[in-house]
Amino acid sequence: MSDDLTIDTENTWCPGCGNFSIEAATKSVIKNIGKENVAITAGIGCHAKIIDYVDVNSFYGLHGRPVPLAEGIKLANPDLKVIAFSGDGDSLNEGISHLIHAAKRNSDITVVLHQNRNFALTVKQFTASSPKGFVSNSSPEGNPEEPLNALELVNSAGATFISRTFSGDMNHLQEALQKAVDHKGFSFVEVLQPCTTWYNTFPDYQEKCYKMDSIPDNPEEKIKEWNYNDESDQIPLGVFKKEEKPVYEEEMKTGGGPILVKKVLESKI
Ligand code: SF4
Repeated sequence: MSDDLTIDTENTWCPGCGNFSIEAATKSVIKNIGKENVAITAGIGCHAKIIDYVDVNSFYGLHGRPVPLAEGIKLANPDLKVIAFSGDGDSLNEGISHLIHAAKRNSDITVVLHQNRNFALTVKQFTASSPKGFVSNSSPEGNPEEPLNALELVNSAGATFISRTFSGDMNHLQEALQKAVDHKGFSFVEVLQPCTTWYNTFPDYQEKCYKMDSIPDNPEEKIKEWNYNDESDQIPLGVFKKEEKPVYEEEMKTGGGPILVKKVLESKI
């Protein structure tokens, strides 16, 4: 594919990887917004190669740090749409505190979680969202821990937009990303992204994923419908929550933050 969003470089994702769909959907959304109005960040992991493949203003960060990078960019230039790409190992393990605080403060950014449920780039270790019993190079006898529900986490932290989509459904994925980017406030999109090399969940997701008709009245309940263990019957896709709240970047100007600090400092002089 040759267009002004494609970088002419070798793509090293494995054949069939769900990341290809995320890249394509991202390009569509950026085209809609205009590439001059967008900045993207990524951490470390297979997800992060999206920085190598999409020709737009970007920042390749440290492991677990795409979210604070995105927050900083948004603070510096609130006119930009800022999208942080992250993996489950990246933001549910290494950088989990950043994710929680960005949701809590309602930073006006979008986080796209490439949910492949293993550390794929380093050839299969279990992450916070791997199912219990998952056999990997760091859990040869099976993962002894219960998986973390990413949506439950960001919901309890205060995220104002929460959705889940599947890389195997291109239209749904593209729509989910567009809705998240259009939302004013912290938006979180979990993309079920099968890792065809180390943990091929594609057939399981194809069988179990279904689309919700509307935003559920009780998102807390709906979010728990899938527990990230593979024996669950159904996996709901769609928007779980959408609410309007003041965003961090505006609260910073008027809500006390640096202004309050300045006043305190002045009062001591
Ligand atoms: Fe995709 Fe898994 Fe290959 Fe990484 S290792 S590129 S996540 S299929």
